[in-house]
Amino acid sequence: MSLEKTKVYDLVSGVEKKYTRYFDTIDEIALNNQEKVLKAFQDARVESRHFVGSSGYGYGDEGRYKIEEVFSLIFGSEASLVRVQFGSATHAIVMSLRALLKPNDTLFSVTGKPYDTVYNSIKSTGQGSALEDYGVKYADVNLIDGKTIDYDAIKEYLRTNKPKVVFLQKSRGYMWREALTIADIKIISDLVKEISPQSIIFVDNCYGEFVETKEPCDVGADVCIGSLIKNPGGSISPTGAYICGTKKCVDEISSFFYSVNINDEIGSYEAGYRLLFQGLFMAPHIVAQSMKCALLFSGVYNELGYEVMPKIERYRGDITQSIKLNSNEELIKFCKGIQEASPVDSHLMPEPWEMPGYSDKVIMAAGTFVQGASIELSADAPVNEEPPFIVYLQGGITYEHCKLALIKTLTNTSE
Ligand SMILES: *Cc1c(COP(=O)(O)O)cnc(C)c1O
Repeated sequence: MSLEKTKVYDLVSGVEKKYTRYFDTIDEIALNNQEKVLKAFQDARVESRHFVGSSGYGYGDEGRYKIEEVFSLIFGSEASLVRVQFGSATHAIVMSLRALLKPNDTLFSVTGKPYDTVYNSIKSTGQGSALEDYGVKYADVNLIDGKTIDYDAIKEYLRTNKPKVVFLQKSRGYMWREALTIADIKIISDLVKEISPQSIIFVDNCYGEFVETKEPCDVGADVCIGSLIKNPGGSISPTGAYICGTKKCVDEISSFFYSVNINDEIGSYEAGYRLLFQGLFMAPHIVAQSMKCALLFSGVYNELGYEVMPKIERYRGDITQSIKLNSNEELIKFCKGIQEASPVDSHLMPEPWEMPGYSDKVIMAAGTFVQGASIELSADAPVNEEPPFIVYLQGGITYEHCKLALIKTLTNTSE
């Protein structure tokens, strides 16, 4: 589709006017979260000396301890491990599952198949290092029609099985499904605690942070993990991931990640921690920018007749916006529009490629300052020859940029 610029401007301002109150709601959430983050910095008495890094083993690294203290306060957890040594959120999630699950234990996912890169480290393919290869068992329950949690199936499973870990993925991932909200997570966690109190409630919180005013550990999760190049890094953190949770779980995870008895007491980062603190401080605002971006794309594409998930009116649990396009060509064109509107690599053309850890070819449009940081405006899609042709859009660190990019996707005439 290629529309006239004036028509697109009218569409955009029409959507902004018609749905003002949904945009306003996002400002309210951001204000709440900013207050929470500010209070955590103050209660933890963050000082500029905490920005200084360490070298070697990193014993007594005060900046590292301080950023972890601040994360625990914000995420409502007893303990946390916030480390730049995690190469990605997948790394932190898979490593934590390996730490918590022993041979013959069961991992039970209540939100269907986990995110591609995580799932590939669960299912055995005969290569030898997936959880199943170590004797861990796996079971799951899908959402009903991609929308509703299947409480009956979960209850039935938990009555006869006692999984060591109950796994929840908050965000939609590459699925035509809704994100979980904190209210959903509370219901699931209450239910698990009632029927199978020994189970560890484990949340993949990627893309979910600061979207609502509470976080998973506030409502009963035992472990909650996400990426620092997504929401809680506020587009400023250069790398890393966080794990928040009960002291027992976080200790078990760090003794696996580092070594027994050493636990979290080593790990240096000579470059220092300022960007982690500053990114975390900015995260509520940056997440709000990306939420408004999602609302705008949702509203405008829906007005043009496309099926979108979620719709603009819907209460959101993550920053991702899915749009069902009509063909592969439209999908690739959409991604090219996003790429051309980027501040970095705008002259490069995204092509579908076999990205490590994903099952389909994936096209990714991202011209980001931090490599692959999807809190910056980015769009990606698994590429298949058959429908549905769904593009997943997320991020955007200024709403103005998102608006320009949206206009680009609709007015782009280049092939
Ligand atoms: C991005 C994402 C991951 C993986 O994070 P990486 O840092 O890219 O490894 C896992 N789960 C969900 C829901 C995600 O959005």
